Amino acid sequence: MTAALVARMRPFTTTIFAEMSALAISTRALNLGQGFPDSDGPSSVLRRAQEAIAGGMNQYPPGPGLPELRNAIAHARSRDFLQEFDPDTEILVTVGATEAIAATILAFCEAGDEVLTLDPFYDSYAAVTALAGARHRSVPLRRDGTGRLGLDVAEFAAAVGPRTRLVLLNSPHNPTGTVLTRDELAGIAAVCQERDLLVVTDEVYEYLTFDGVEHVPIGTLPGMAERTLTISSGGKTLSTTGWKVGWVCGPAALVSAVRSVKQFLTFVANPPFQLAVAHGLREERAWISSLAADLAAKRDRLCAGLSGVGLDVFRPQGTYFVLAEISPLGTTDGMRFCLDLPHRAGVVAIPTEVFSADPAAWRSTIRFAFCKQDAVIDEACRRLAALA
Ligand code: PMP
Ligand code: GLN
Repeated sequence: MTAALVARMRPFTTTIFAEMSALAISTRALNLGQGFPDSDGPSSVLRRAQEAIAGGMNQYPPGPGLPELRNAIAHARSRDFLQEFDPDTEILVTVGATEAIAATILAFCEAGDEVLTLDPFYDSYAAVTALAGARHRSVPLRRDGTGRLGLDVAEFAAAVGPRTRLVLLNSPHNPTGTVLTRDELAGIAAVCQERDLLVVTDEVYEYLTFDGVEHVPIGTLPGMAERTLTISSGGKTLSTTGWKVGWVCGPAALVSAVRSVKQFLTFVANPPFQLAVAHGLREERAWISSLAADLAAKRDRLCAGLSGVGLDVFRPQGTYFVLAEISPLGTTDGMRFCLDLPHRAGVVAIPTEVFSADPAAWRSTIRFAFCKQDAVIDEACRRLAALA
């Protein structure tokens, strides 16, 4: 048999999350690598899925998603972000944000087109861009005077070229924890309007911002609704990352193009979980706010622990993640450090370089997830302290 993986996918044979979670299991280490919470979402949401299964909701749902979920998404976006979408034509339910991202890139990129992202970037962006035969360019987030990792809009504008087809944003941002400011977003919006670019915005951490930092969906800026596809999912918002209920919202013609692709990726999925996420978006708003407050406290807990060990932390404004610079520990090879750490200290983290087109720039920075129980965070910090 001579069949081989297509060349364009060869750089993407395994995800770092699968690799590091497997290492966590085989070494019985504390997993601060892959971003998933180790406690459950709201009990009413879990119950709703169980009831739906028991009640016989076990066959294919409608192609665009259950109307209950599309209506709940429209309601939540209006209530929480002042964004208006018609649930019948402007919202498509997908298998997690991951499928929404894939279907969107495959729907709009011809071979050779360019997709522009921030750098670092979530791992699926580069893989799906390659799958589409498109080219990936990225613009770095850089540390400013306050220590925040921010975007230089002039640098962003300079990265737009004649083949740039779409801009794929992510805020709140994985892995840096940056929440793009209204000014940064306005700068991006001006460039995208001037250059007539499609904007795809991955907002899966939209509810998980800290210290009163506001999440601004770029689709709400003047002139942007018509060129923006907004992607999110229930995974982070309701601590149900394994359920993979996602969605994409935007102008009907754009959503319809995404649906053309999506229907041949998975067709449809998961009606009981769609119903449960609909319930959560409508009825568990207070729980979602308390989750964000809890995560802010966990961020503080982990940042304090890491600083105590001597690591230089980038304090995140949102998400599940904190980046830390390891050079104070006398090493600059984050990949080696992360591969050794489970054996040396029983802790798993992720090397930031895997999220970058410029690995050298992030070589000595690693990512920890703090969406874990306090006792797990404390024990991880204790183990790291012993190591230092
Ligand atoms: N985008 C970002 C930035 C993420 O961190 C993740 C990780 N869960 C996803 C998309 C994927 O979301 P989902 O699990 O809903 O597919
Ligand atoms: N989004 C999660 C992270 O960044 C993991 C998702 C995955 O395993 N693909 O850790």
